[in-house]
Amino acid sequence: MRMSKLYLPTLKEDPAEAEVISHKLMLRAGMMRKHSSGIYSYLPLGYRVIKKIEKITRKHMDNSEAQEVLLPIMQTSEIWKDSKRWDKFGPLMIKFNDRKSREYCLGPTHEEVVTDLVRDEVRSYKDLPLNLYQIQTKVRDEIRPRFGVMRGREFIMKDAYSLDTDYQGLDQSYQAMYDAYERIFAECGLEAVAVEADTGAMGGKDSHEFMVLADSGEDEIAFCSHCDYAANVERATSKKTDIDFEVEAELEKIHTPEIKTISELEEYLEVPAAKMIKAVAMVADGEAVLALVSGEDELNEIKLTNYLQANELRAAEEEEFAELFNSVAGFIGPVNLNNVRIVADQRLKNMSGAVVGANEKDYHLKQVKAGRDFEVEAFTDLRSVRGGERCPKCDQGKLNIKDGIEVGHIFKLGTKYSENMGANYLDENGKAQPIVMGSYGIGITRLVAAAIEQNNDQYGIKWPKAIAPYQIIILPLGNDDQVQEKSEEIYQNLKAQGWEVLIDDRSERAGVKFNDSELIGIPLRLTIGSRSLENGVVEAMIRENNKKLEIELDNLEKEVEKLFADIS
Ligand code: ATP
Ligand code: MG
Repeated sequence: MRMSKLYLPTLKEDPAEAEVISHKLMLRAGMMRKHSSGIYSYLPLGYRVIKKIEKITRKHMDNSEAQEVLLPIMQTSEIWKDSKRWDKFGPLMIKFNDRKSREYCLGPTHEEVVTDLVRDEVRSYKDLPLNLYQIQTKVRDEIRPRFGVMRGREFIMKDAYSLDTDYQGLDQSYQAMYDAYERIFAECGLEAVAVEADTGAMGGKDSHEFMVLADSGEDEIAFCSHCDYAANVERATSKKTDIDFEVEAELEKIHTPEIKTISELEEYLEVPAAKMIKAVAMVADGEAVLALVSGEDELNEIKLTNYLQANELRAAEEEEFAELFNSVAGFIGPVNLNNVRIVADQRLKNMSGAVVGANEKDYHLKQVKAGRDFEVEAFTDLRSVRGGERCPKCDQGKLNIKDGIEVGHIFKLGTKYSENMGANYLDENGKAQPIVMGSYGIGITRLVAAAIEQNNDQYGIKWPKAIAPYQIIILPLGNDDQVQEKSEEIYQNLKAQGWEVLIDDRSERAGVKFNDSELIGIPLRLTIGSRSLENGVVEAMIRENNKKLEIELDNLEKEVEKLFADIS
């Protein structure tokens, strides 16, 4: 491709709207442009990268005997009501009516469509197992679209759905996808790790996320320093021990004027946070819930959501303290709190002698004891782990917390969808059984951003060769006829051999060409100038490490092959 013809609007400066490096570079390298918040057009360079990732993904999906289909983006509300997720997905879905007032959504995911498809088609155990996949645009009206394609409202996903007769079959299908995912990410040149994950709105039991470690990642992952335990902090646990409260004394009301937070209380009462109870007022599907964790811990909202089986969980607003809790913000506590569900973290099992809010402005209670002064409906794991805590699996290593980008997610769904939607097959005895399902996603466009996060420097992108938009870029320098002719000849020859080649035939200064080639990150650059031609050589630069070397013109094609083989 000739750069003079390529639609490649590069930018010299970082766009103000972009916070993370991949977003900046995708805009600067002319890979995409924003249409609206979280919605992008992919330009030629960006789309080439996407197509390469799709091709690698297809190869490994096909090799694991998944079959490609294309499912509708526009989905009826009926199937989502059947699966009981029309409300659960809630505002994340774009919903609308057609001219006959029939209700639809734009597909944020396709479990419903697949289950609906097979409930009419799959009759007997002989039709199973099946794994159907597609690569398609998904639409999710994210609350906070950000970081470019990392969290878009419209994005490309590869989604697959396995259908088995039993859980043993599901385990095999799941493992096949797990293995395929490892191959896909490795072939894309990405370092991705599988971690235990929360199942969220999908439901089901086992689940793993594939994470690319990067500072810009929105997820936190706990890794054990000793064994292979790795889990998203959303669900990670640790060997944190119960708190020993020791004291056992009469309930006492204390005046704490304007003292609202745990740290203010620590200072005012000279009691460590570990001896206090943090009471967090939450609203789960409209219902008031008070969550108790140790003063030194953070409430894990995912764990609470899962415990409550809530569709929507949020912090209570200031005015709701009076309305829903009959209490006061900053002074809420579990004692005498009527008609409110109270759930406590399991570390608080022996809770006594604790400090809590008195549900009265400027007052707290001391020496509070669970069971005597109030009841909780359950003690369960509600806290987020912190770095340095002991591993729950080996009990020896310490947990380290790192940031990661979720590029893939696999779930064992079980029979949740098939039961809700009536997708059955007839077993060998002619008895109807629910199909056992799994679901498997890769964020194709997010993966582009993740690859850039992992491979860049101050000059721009350093594409792993498997997903680079072009493999080689030729820079002819100066207007010398000989340089132009030789460059054209090299360009034609390399192309004829099957290389994907860009030639910067623009009449730009050398500096501009160098800068652009580094910005767009083509793995191998060949610079051709009159001096080097006189010496019978071409300057090659490997973008991966910015190493430069001279290669002989006479041997160019062989040398290119050798150099390229060594690039990762
Ligand atoms: P997240 O927790 O990041 O919101 P999710 O867990 O809701 O993602 P899944 O339903 O597991 O996402 O979707 C499968 C994959 O699709 C994710 O692993 C991710 O790579 C990608 N993905 C999900 N949401 C987005 C988005 N808004 N923009 C880009 N990619 C996304
Ligand atoms: Mg996910």
